[in-house]
Amino acid sequence: MLEEIESIKVSAIKELQACSDSRRLAELKSKYLGRKGQLTRMFRAIADMPAEQRPIVGKAAGEAKKAILEKIKEVSSDLETREAGRTPAFFDVTLPGRKLPLGRKHPLTLVTEEIIYIFHGMGFSLVDGPEVETEYYNFDALNTPADHPSRDIQDTFYLENGQLLRTHTSPVQIRVMEKQRPPVRIIHAGRCYRRDTPDATHSPNFHQVEGLYVDTDVTMADLKGVLTTFARQLLGRGAKVRLRPHFFPFTEPSVEYDFSCVVCEGKGCKLCEGTGWLEIAGAGMVDPNVFEKVGYDAERYSGFAFGMGIERIAMIKYGIDDVRLFYENDLRFVEQF
Ligand SMILES: [Zn+2]
Repeated sequence: MLEEIESIKVSAIKELQACSDSRRLAELKSKYLGRKGQLTRMFRAIADMPAEQRPIVGKAAGEAKKAILEKIKEVSSDLETREAGRTPAFFDVTLPGRKLPLGRKHPLTLVTEEIIYIFHGMGFSLVDGPEVETEYYNFDALNTPADHPSRDIQDTFYLENGQLLRTHTSPVQIRVMEKQRPPVRIIHAGRCYRRDTPDATHSPNFHQVEGLYVDTDVTMADLKGVLTTFARQLLGRGAKVRLRPHFFPFTEPSVEYDFSCVVCEGKGCKLCEGTGWLEIAGAGMVDPNVFEKVGYDAERYSGFAFGMGIERIAMIKYGIDDVRLFYENDLRFVEQF
């Protein structure tokens, strides 16, 4: 028994001496002193020995344990020092670092954020809405007649379950008014889908901003004021807004609105096709039929709604002449913003 203890001690010390990393050190600790370790087994065996031998063997085992523990402590502190000071030999620390390219925001994201920021300043709060819609929200509730051409499968992406990919952001107006009583002053930005063949000005997937303001005594003058403030903050103090009569099912009266050309300031250039004005989008006073759908009293409340294409705004702001550039993710393009 004494010989066995001695031999365990010797081999433990020898193995610890050769140990060169902390994982191996932990293995050795367990091999000798762990719950099923070699020396631990000796301690257990002592209990079964005749009483007169126990003190002698016990003392030897205790000393062996002490020696092993001391060696472990010594090796452990050696390893720590070595591992802390180790310089990996596989690369040259004096080489300059390799720069990782920084990501940046897409121009459409930048413009969307700017638009939201401007309307936020005028008291509009941001709301969200689904891109997969029902015919009710996308058309019916917005007073769009059953035979309106925009409902055609040539123009709208219908899903197998009868739902559709929204063709504009206006369904959000309905969703908000269903839940909230006036006053309502909201803005929404997001993706829309139409069956368009991609060209320089069309894309089957595009982005819109939608605004809605409903309260007592809201007039067309408020609409023009809000759009003018927006144009001036977006394009500069000199920007002007022009309203032209138009038709939309969900507003009455309806207008299309233009901003004065940022490039030629009204004199006429290539961007504005010589007119001095840039067509932005549509707006108008919310049709009483729409109010009826959401249970608003059209005698008491009035409101305006407006939409605009984010791509269109970004193209004007950055002088981009092809909408497809926004979706191709060509780094040479997107890195410029
Ligand atoms: Zn111009």
